[in-house]
Amino acid sequence: MPKIALHWQILIGLALGIVVGIGINVLWTSQTWEAIGVGDAAAYLAGAEFAEDELNPNEDAGIVAWTTRWVGQFTGFIGDLFMRMLRFIAVPIVLFSLIVGASSLNDLAKLSRIGGKTVGIYLVTTAFAITVGLLFANLAQPGNSVSEEKRAELLVDYGAQATSKIEAAGKPSGWDVLLNLVPKNPFEAIATGQMLQVVVAALLVGIALTLIPKKKAGPVIAFFDGMTDVIIKIVEVVMRVAPYAVFALIVPVIATMGLEVLKALSVYALVVVAALCVMMFGLYPLILKIFTPVGYGRFFKAISPAQLLAFSSSSSSATLPVTMECCEERLGAGEEVTSFVVPVGATINMDGTALYQGVAAVFIAQLYNMDLSLADQLTIVLTATLASIGTAGVPGVGIIMLVIVLESVGIPLEGIAFILGVDRLLDMCRTSCNVTGDCMVCAVVASTEKELLTPEQVEERARERAAKGLDEHPHEKGSRQYDVPVGSPSRGTDGDLDKGK
Ligand code: ASP
Repeated sequence: MPKIALHWQILIGLALGIVVGIGINVLWTSQTWEAIGVGDAAAYLAGAEFAEDELNPNEDAGIVAWTTRWVGQFTGFIGDLFMRMLRFIAVPIVLFSLIVGASSLNDLAKLSRIGGKTVGIYLVTTAFAITVGLLFANLAQPGNSVSEEKRAELLVDYGAQATSKIEAAGKPSGWDVLLNLVPKNPFEAIATGQMLQVVVAALLVGIALTLIPKKKAGPVIAFFDGMTDVIIKIVEVVMRVAPYAVFALIVPVIATMGLEVLKALSVYALVVVAALCVMMFGLYPLILKIFTPVGYGRFFKAISPAQLLAFSSSSSSATLPVTMECCEERLGAGEEVTSFVVPVGATINMDGTALYQGVAAVFIAQLYNMDLSLADQLTIVLTATLASIGTAGVPGVGIIMLVIVLESVGIPLEGIAFILGVDRLLDMCRTSCNVTGDCMVCAVVASTEKELLTPEQVEERARERAAKGLDEHPHEKGSRQYDVPVGSPSRGTDGDLDKGK
């Protein structure tokens, strides 16, 4: 039987999940479930939250209700398990691979060049993304599509949720943000998954390793290199279940989506999605065309598993291990570049979130009949850039950070209630854009650093591994094809390490 490529498998899982989700949503909202005697069990399958004792009414409702409930629980279990595995992988993969990456750059000038390029491109594309969002929102005027009654209704329906989001938004000063980059205790940063702090800790350790005698540094680097391979092996195994997990993740999201509210906010949602598409399928490929030899097809074929997973999970942090795998193994970016650019991107580069915050701010202002001056819109570009940097790569944080943007131009914060009803759907779309942006920048940096394989080299590498029976293991000794920086103690065979002795 011909083997279906992974990205197609995931796409099939996603499509099936959407179809099943819509089916449950329609049957549930039209009360059909009640009619066929499945009742609450179907609601449970659709992800509705029940108190423990409320689940019991269907206990005696027969085999259909029982099966429905069991399928719901099992689906939820698979989705949660997959997300846990990804979260389990995220911190160690950043820590280990970045220590190895930084220590093998072996040259502070190169590290700061890559760092400068990475952060520079991230900031410029983010500011550009917000501008695209603002342009779309000003031209399409989505605020006009929501009637006065609907506005009042939304404020009532989502008012309480909005208040809790407003409360969740802290007010860190710029100095605090910078200070917080450095962990007081690296182990705490690791234990609590403070990704940016983990990145800084790993960089410090990696750089320090290049400054101590190679004899001492060698075994330490070899240890982290080995651990990186272990983690990547786990990623590969986890990825095999991705198509099923994507199905399991997407069904409850679609099944519980309020179609009414989606209808009311459809113009706003379409504006966000259209602007995100311009970024993902217009601007990013254009940047790639200018700075790299990576074409449209090659780019999207390589990174589609990460995009689809980002869409299903709404979390760029959870998607991180897969994004790294896609950039390195499928796109052919060098490991040193990937292990720096992608984790930093998953933490600070949120083009989709920033764009969405731009559209949301203008939309809410329109609903309050407020006019935003050019100065206001420039303030939005600035604050949304900063807010997106501070947004953690987990579901729904973009809307919490929106509070900062609204505050900066005096838009009433309660206005968040207008857009909460469609936030999950837009979160899925903006997270895909966030991850696509990380991959684009990784390709640009890798290409300008001459650490990007050609498609032929990527294929050749995969073929060689298959022939050697290495089961696509990316880091088998000697499998690396691109140049190791001269004097690198970390990469390649044990012989490399010996050189340092
Ligand atoms: N869910 C987004 C991410 O993980 C962040 C957000 O916009 O809420 O990238």
